[in-house]
Amino acid sequence: MKRTSLDQWIKSKHDLDTSDRSAVEQYQLRRIRSLCDYAHSHSKLYARLYHNFDLPESMEAFSHFPMTTASDLAQRAHEFLCVSQSEITRIVTLQTSGTTQPSKRVYFTRQDIDLTLDFFEHGMKTLCGPGDSALILFPAKTPDSVGALLAIALEKLGLTVCCATPEYAEDIFQKQTVDIVCGPASWIFKVAHQTTDCPVRNVLSSSEVLSEDMRAELTRCWGAEIFDHYGMTETGLGGAVECGAHQGMHIRENDLYFETIALDGSALPDGEEGELVVTTLTRTGMPFIRYRTGDRGVITRERCSCGSLIRRILYVRRIEAVP
Ligand SMILES: [Zn+2]
Repeated sequence: MKRTSLDQWIKSKHDLDTSDRSAVEQYQLRRIRSLCDYAHSHSKLYARLYHNFDLPESMEAFSHFPMTTASDLAQRAHEFLCVSQSEITRIVTLQTSGTTQPSKRVYFTRQDIDLTLDFFEHGMKTLCGPGDSALILFPAKTPDSVGALLAIALEKLGLTVCCATPEYAEDIFQKQTVDIVCGPASWIFKVAHQTTDCPVRNVLSSSEVLSEDMRAELTRCWGAEIFDHYGMTETGLGGAVECGAHQGMHIRENDLYFETIALDGSALPDGEEGELVVTTLTRTGMPFIRYRTGDRGVITRERCSCGSLIRRILYVRRIEAVP
């Protein structure tokens, strides 16, 4: 079974051994302390929220820090900002669930986008390699959109890449071999039914919850191995990705720290289902600290069958629609 490619990536990028959990926790706490300090001095929102808080001495202390929400983001996105508007490369506007909330706006610096690109490149190594041919069904026309970034990452890995909407995907299957398909679950599902019996080796599904029935049906249509991914714009698009064991999605722990909380907002231990709360450890433009995702899930720190000790999100259930 192929081990997740994230261990090697994190080791080479940060000289961090992900099997040494105490070292990972120390790294994350160090990042959190410097992020809280940075955000407090650079953003209006965090200056207000952390007015009476000292830098956290432990993860337990951090679990009592104020949380941020989609509603905060919808109502005062600019207050999250830690840099001037001139340093922003891309702004993503997201519809919030319900009709009364304004749209959410997520800001990225060039450096923030490069972090996503790096995760895409190294996270995808579990699924594909040089010489493979990939079909990307994510929107890719806008520069730095998820499809455009994934295309760049896969080309860096030595793949041949096509980007298409589901309507044009059938033509691509008629013209060439497709080894890898990446896209939102429902779009992949649609294309699989148009191209049944075309062999596809691996599929990366993201943006939507992938049901067990959909997974089985994709394997039936294409004979493909299916890899699920969890992420949202606020996590920098990428978040966590399955390995060959298919027992949950390994978190990009060098860039993100996930917690789960109970309905009353108190921290839950790993292994219990709760709302996922995320902290972006390395973003500079608009960092999210203890941001409530609106998704429920279970995180485990048990060793994966692939051999990795990187924490995994076992499953996700959407509470609100995440664009
Ligand atoms: Zn694994």
